[in-house]
Amino acid sequence: MFSEEIEIGSQVTNPRANPKKRERTKSGVKTVKPFAVEGVSQRVAKYWHNRYTLFTRYDEGIKMDEEGWFSVTPEDIASRHAERSGGGTVIDCFSGVGGNAIQFAKMCFHVVAIDIDPKKIGFASNNAKIYGVEDYIDFIIGDFFQLAPFLKADVVFLAPPWGGPTYNTFENFTLDLLKPKDGYSIFQVAQRITPNIIMFLPRNVDLRQVEELSWLSSPPLNIEIEENYIGSYLKGITAYFGNTASRLPTLS
Ligand code: ADP
Repeated sequence: MFSEEIEIGSQVTNPRANPKKRERTKSGVKTVKPFAVEGVSQRVAKYWHNRYTLFTRYDEGIKMDEEGWFSVTPEDIASRHAERSGGGTVIDCFSGVGGNAIQFAKMCFHVVAIDIDPKKIGFASNNAKIYGVEDYIDFIIGDFFQLAPFLKADVVFLAPPWGGPTYNTFENFTLDLLKPKDGYSIFQVAQRITPNIIMFLPRNVDLRQVEELSWLSSPPLNIEIEENYIGSYLKGITAYFGNTASRLPTLS
């Protein structure tokens, strides 16, 4: 049972309108879960409870769909990525609902935000307006792999699909589990744009494989790996390559 339930009692003027939102408690009072009021499903309720971690300005009209709830980078982590990027033009290749693009733009970088799903770009554009940074972002609906040969940038940011919440079920998340292509292929396409790549990956990712990515380039790229926490919870791993990293790769 979730703690934040709104008692609606007699305010239910048409209880048949949306029966899924109602629940009868022992006391007979009808309640509705607040995430349901917003049209958020039980599946993403846990993310909704952390909504201010995802977007501190959530209440001002942030919009996202179910996939967006699963995949958006928490604001503190996105802000860290932006700080570390060094600026210039940044391409957010799988932008989703805009969590990272907004933080890059907040630092006045020029951002190219790409997503294959028009709905996601619609949400990202709405969300960027809430943060007042829409003028810094070019939104593109398209397939990153098709667009890549035509793109130029100082930094490429990659938060490729982790395959939804099931990523957590793997003891060792290997790079072939990334979508829509394996991590090596995604990295190679990005590298043709710039060696300065930031990659946000699941916390259980195979770190030896991540290190290997730097050897896809000759000479091998600098690499730095960072753990990203939300409170005490390890949310993900960020790999910084090229100029965004501070050390030479090690031989594994
Ligand atoms: P996760 O598996 O981490 O939940 P998603 O499935 O939400 O991640 O994917 C992240 C984003 O990447 C989504 O918004 C999705 O539309 C987008 N995406 C997927 N394939 C491509 C592609 N080929 N080019 C650009 N964006 C893509």
